[in-house]
Amino acid sequence: MHAIVFVLIVSLFYTIKKKKLPQNIAIVGAGIAGLAAAIRLQAMGKKVVVFEANSYPGGKLTAFSEKGYRFDMGPSLFTMPQYVEELFDVARQPMAKYFSYIRKSVICNYFFEDGTTFSALADTNDFAKSAAKVFGVEEQTLIDYLERNKTKYDLTARLFLEKSLHKFSTYFSKDAIKAIANISSLDINSTLADYNTHSLNNEKLVQFFNRFATYNGSDPYQTPAIMSMIPHLEQHFGTYFPKGGMHQITMSLFTLAKDIGVEFQFDTKVEEIITEKNKAIGIRINNEIKHFNIVVSNADVVPTYRALLPKHKAPEKVLSQPRSSSALIFYWGIEHTFPQLDLHNIFFSKDYKTEFNYIFNHKNVHNDPTVYINITSKDEPADAPDGCECWFVMVNVPSNTGQDWDEIIARTRTNVISKLSKLLNKDIEPLIVYESTLDPRTIESKTQSYQGALYGASSNNKFAAFLRHPNFKRSIENLYFCGGSVHPGGGIPLCLLSGKIVSELISKSV
Ligand SMILES: Cc1cc2nc3c(=O)[nH]c(=O)nc-3n(C[C@H](O)[C@H](O)[C@H](O)COP(=O)(O)OP(=O)(O)OC[C@H]3O[C@@H](n4cnc5c(N)ncnc54)[C@H](O)[C@@H]3O)c2cc1C
Repeated sequence: MHAIVFVLIVSLFYTIKKKKLPQNIAIVGAGIAGLAAAIRLQAMGKKVVVFEANSYPGGKLTAFSEKGYRFDMGPSLFTMPQYVEELFDVARQPMAKYFSYIRKSVICNYFFEDGTTFSALADTNDFAKSAAKVFGVEEQTLIDYLERNKTKYDLTARLFLEKSLHKFSTYFSKDAIKAIANISSLDINSTLADYNTHSLNNEKLVQFFNRFATYNGSDPYQTPAIMSMIPHLEQHFGTYFPKGGMHQITMSLFTLAKDIGVEFQFDTKVEEIITEKNKAIGIRINNEIKHFNIVVSNADVVPTYRALLPKHKAPEKVLSQPRSSSALIFYWGIEHTFPQLDLHNIFFSKDYKTEFNYIFNHKNVHNDPTVYINITSKDEPADAPDGCECWFVMVNVPSNTGQDWDEIIARTRTNVISKLSKLLNKDIEPLIVYESTLDPRTIESKTQSYQGALYGASSNNKFAAFLRHPNFKRSIENLYFCGGSVHPGGGIPLCLLSGKIVSELISKSV
């Protein structure tokens, strides 16, 4: 009898021992990339805990309400919703329960200094037809230009955006061979501005298409012409507006993550990533070490090295890449409605080249800046009181290198009000009944993003994609990186992709 019990106990012990506990993973930061990585890793059977310094998820993708107005605080343009949809698929949850969105038929309304206006339509043929009419060019010139943008995207997207650029296997693929064979169609040796001038030969259209460099915080007069693939994303895949506003991207992913078992600890700043024999083994919080099998940093890569990995040599060449642009935003409650405005509106500067010279070379803001206005109450009327509109008024500015921001903000506010009053034929100042601002200093302090840059490093040189920090670190095992400051970088869709790349790297490593 005793022998049987003994055998049973021993076999139970070995069964428990054999049944491996799930790997536990710490994610530093609940930005959109951190949320994407958390959902994917938890869905793969890992045990994920997300540590966030703020009291809320989403990092830059957050919102606030004041005096009856609701404002999305950061991102306003939603493209490539398929990367959000994928997260519900991998978590095997119905997206409709959490998140929905509409496709916009007008992408953006444009206002030029000479009074020309143009509504960019989502349908490509309608777009080409109306652009040809407004700008006085051949429709075919536009169709050909858009077709070449598509070719660039088709040749590179799977290679540059969906895979780690820092793994040899990426280069031994059909996609890589095809891209290399067609390298001349990528136009990496001219700048976006030169390429657009050459292709379109129309000042306003060139300004229109140069603007897409700002989608990853770059300068059209420096960034390579491969960036002309960006309008393809907007034109081909469309632009969208989430029901309830951009913040619903964060909130729906946060709820999804919790529902599938991800644990969140807010108001918890990670102080150090703990390593042992060049292996990440946990994190330090409130001077206490917590052990994890894997650590993923969604924090900006510069503070990840400077603050969280003080004992490791930082990749100085990567970290010293010039930052992308930042933003100065005025959140205005406007006691009036403007039927000529839509969800997205651009008021161009007269001299784009000078404007970008100010941002990237003088690290300052020109007195005639391009002004972007996002008005969510156009699609979500509850975002503003009746007869009013919530204006998110944004100007591209340099990252924070210690400028006199109070002077820049006061001067830019005056310039923006006078520009908008002129182009909208209405004195704007008396209509502002609520106001607050966000600038590079506050972006930096709220999200720990180095210099308050919106997209990490800029893409102002042709090797920028290769100079972004990889999603892993060769010299520290079990440490991974996701978010706008690492590969593939940039806005929401690319941040979501970085979460995907990290989860694939982790699944292959175990
Ligand atoms: C004004 C503005 C406008 C933008 N417009 C667009 C747009 O229209 N479309 C678009 O696609 N993108 C846009 N972007 C860019 C987009 O917001 C970002 O690319 C994206 O949100 C970045 O996500 P992320 O996951 O990299 O992390 P972040 O949003 O930067 O979040 C990182 C998180 O990590 C946390 N963290 C950092 N360090 C620690 C630590 N030590 N311990 C714990 N937590 C830590 C931070 O608190 C933060 O919550 C805009 C950004 C801004 C600011």
